[in-house]
Amino acid sequence: NPVIVAIDGPSGTGKSSTSKAVAAKLGLSYLDTGAQYRAITWWMLTNGIDVNDPAAVADSAGKPVIVSGTDPLDPQISVDGADATAPIRSQEVTAAVSAVSAVPEVRARMVEVQRAAAASAAAGIVVEGRDIGTTVLPDATAKIFLTASAGVRAARRSTELKGAVSVAATQEALTRRDAADSGRKTSPLAKAADAIEVDTSELTLDQVVDRVVALVEQ
Ligand code: C5P
Repeated sequence: NPVIVAIDGPSGTGKSSTSKAVAAKLGLSYLDTGAQYRAITWWMLTNGIDVNDPAAVADSAGKPVIVSGTDPLDPQISVDGADATAPIRSQEVTAAVSAVSAVPEVRARMVEVQRAAAASAAAGIVVEGRDIGTTVLPDATAKIFLTASAGVRAARRSTELKGAVSVAATQEALTRRDAADSGRKTSPLAKAADAIEVDTSELTLDQVVDRVVALVEQ
């Protein structure tokens, strides 16, 4: 049976770096579901949809065609045939993505795409997100829930942004996004009952990867 690894957790816990490295090490495909929510958000912003109007977001949820690459060494995403890999990381998208992701019609569409990707990965796949272990792939082979202290997460994210945003401002933005992601009604950010929690605060990336690989192989 193909190996399905679900990696969930809040922002800044090292989900993407860990998921890509685990997939590369185990020879599995990789799917970044956060990138898909960012891609649909980017399309909404680009097409003048009011992201704070859930009815408008729901009405256009079916319009963009989002295609995700599954190579852990070169993850790419396109929207309506155009490469969106860089623009989905903008501050504007980051600020708007929680509102768009809270709309049930958006989630229904994304979950369908995500399950199809998992089903077509011959060797298996590592899927990272917020609701993979609880909702998208409840029968995953291994479920990991990554955490880290608020200070560590903000420091990591601020470094990723090359110090362009202060740690304090980053921490505030992360806290706001996590509250929105955890508080929404449809499949919120949550740890599955059978997920194994790994606190990454005091660990290096290599240590986290080794731990997750061991959990998958056990
Ligand atoms: O992982 P990343 O920070 O790129 O995710 C961006 C946003 O996408 C999250 O803050 C959340 O609002 C949404 N998301 C989600 N469900 C997932 C993955 C991401 O709602 N499975």
